[in-house]
Amino acid sequence: MIVHDIVIVGGGLAGLRAALEASEYADVAVVSKVHPLRSHTCVATGALHFPPAPNEPKEMYLQETIKGSDYMADQDAVEVLADGAEVEVPWLESWGVIYSRGRDGELLRASPGGMSTKTGIIVSSQWARELVMALQEQLWRRGVTFYNEWFVTSLLVEDNLCRGVTAIEMKSGEFHTIRSKAVILATGGFGWVYARTTNSSVCTGDGAAMAYRAGAPLKDPEFVQFHPTTLYPRGTLISETARVIGGTLINSEGERFMRRYAPNFMELAPRDVVSQAMQTEINEGRGIGGKYIGLDLTHIKIEELEQILEVTNIPLSFFRRRLAEFAELASVFAKVDIKEDVIPVVPGQHFWMGGVKTNSWTETPIKGLFAAGEVACVSVHGANREGANALTECVVFGKRAGQRACEYIKNEELRPVPKEKIRKEEERLYQFFSERGEHSVPKLRDELRQTMWEKVGLFRNEQGLTEALKKIRELKEKYTKIRVEDRSTVYNNAFIQALELGNMLDLAEATTLAALMRRESRGAHYRTDYPNRDYDNWTKHIIVYYHPEVPILTYENVVITVFKPEKRTY
Ligand SMILES: Cc1cc2nc3c(=O)[nH]c(=O)nc-3n(C[C@H](O)[C@H](O)[C@H](O)COP(=O)(O)OP(=O)(O)OC[C@H]3O[C@@H](n4cnc5c(N)ncnc54)[C@H](O)[C@@H]3O)c2cc1C
Repeated sequence: MIVHDIVIVGGGLAGLRAALEASEYADVAVVSKVHPLRSHTCVATGALHFPPAPNEPKEMYLQETIKGSDYMADQDAVEVLADGAEVEVPWLESWGVIYSRGRDGELLRASPGGMSTKTGIIVSSQWARELVMALQEQLWRRGVTFYNEWFVTSLLVEDNLCRGVTAIEMKSGEFHTIRSKAVILATGGFGWVYARTTNSSVCTGDGAAMAYRAGAPLKDPEFVQFHPTTLYPRGTLISETARVIGGTLINSEGERFMRRYAPNFMELAPRDVVSQAMQTEINEGRGIGGKYIGLDLTHIKIEELEQILEVTNIPLSFFRRRLAEFAELASVFAKVDIKEDVIPVVPGQHFWMGGVKTNSWTETPIKGLFAAGEVACVSVHGANREGANALTECVVFGKRAGQRACEYIKNEELRPVPKEKIRKEEERLYQFFSERGEHSVPKLRDELRQTMWEKVGLFRNEQGLTEALKKIRELKEKYTKIRVEDRSTVYNNAFIQALELGNMLDLAEATTLAALMRRESRGAHYRTDYPNRDYDNWTKHIIVYYHPEVPILTYENVVITVFKPEKRTY
């Protein structure tokens, strides 16, 4: 049996940041189902927040993040995020991360969509892979153990104490138990639950589902972000920068329709506002070809940008590079020349604001179990995440997870692992091989993803959500009789995908149920049958507990410290 002080599940930004903190005081292992450099973090375009900005007090960042969350973020947690970022961002630079700098040598600052504060800064290569690489190098130096391509299947929890994990070594198919005094979950989001998503196919919500089944509740699972501009029909993300440099959104009548939805911020309103506006245009018959919206970059002339953007320190070479990137994506994936024609775009799932409920020290209600990054819900994003706040969340709360786990294990001994649970888990896994069920995993998965997109997507209503719930429950029933054709032990992806599907189904059910329960429209959650925000009755979080028959829902008030809920206009 393998033993470590602290096991971190996930090799993305949150996991590695936690590992760096914890490895200073403890024996740490990182377990990851893909190599850390293939974590979803590595495809993020690499902007994170560094408040305060020159001439902009930190309060401005707080206010815009909280307004952006539609007053659903816990305001004390957002303060932790802002304070943490102030320390973390320069610290990361001292560990080898290179940020883009402007012509004056100062950090290159920009305001992501929905915010006017210029606290967003950009990692130099523009990809968050830089962050992961810098941290990974430091972890190698420290001798942290990596179990890459190991798939964690369950958390070993008994008497409300987390004592380790079970995992499959994907190369050999071997089953392992890893004992530890504490476990930090950093397994990212669950975007693959949706048919249209910017997320990698590894984002299947495994950690959240495992924690949920082990007794840690989910918080606000119904809040799912849809990014406005994903390439039609593939779903590849076209970053907000395309609109920051002046890209406009037009409908089939050639109208810049955002005028009607967000007259001040226009295309740079928050993601929930822009996505809902785009989908409304398509639904009301003003989509181009009835299917998509046009992202128009035909008029962009790099030389004129300086004037348009009224910025002083962003070098034009930066915009030139980004524009070239959009041109390539549009040409390769949509056969469009951006100088001549609009890029076809539609909204697509992008981020999960909900997740495993934690406090601002990343503690879950299970002792010894911590969660940070996209898998967790602290909550700093509330009903809608502002651009560049996810990477900031990963570094700030990743660090806190490492720190708190180390404090926790000081007075904690290695407890015996629940042998019966391990035996049952092994039995559960190998039954996939011994039984020949009737249902195919890809088929059930496709049905789930399509159902979630159609009925638990941008626009929701009681009828659609009820139908979705019924369908998900049917799929769960069928899941008990699935078939895994591939019987090999070496890199058996069919087997791994079967396990992932089980996780996706549990999270889909919790998300749909919470969406059905929240009878109001707030941030990314839009109910056509309850189109108004209900600040009086619904400024509360939905907490979902696992139950083998039907999930159990409870509520918790949102923490409001300074910024009182008010009408959200842009
Ligand atoms: C295309 C795209 C662009 C984005 N751009 C930005 C941006 O510019 N700025 C910003 O702030 N945010 C951005 N985001 C969001 C942000 O990138 C993510 O929220 C963040 O990177 C998540 O990091 P994480 O460490 O929580 O998880 P991830 O990076 O997703 O890592 C999850 C880790 O968990 C491991 N794992 C999962 N399940 C298991 C299992 N069963 N067993 C073992 N290991 C497991 C995986 O191997 C992986 O290492 C973007 C997201 C996307 C999809």
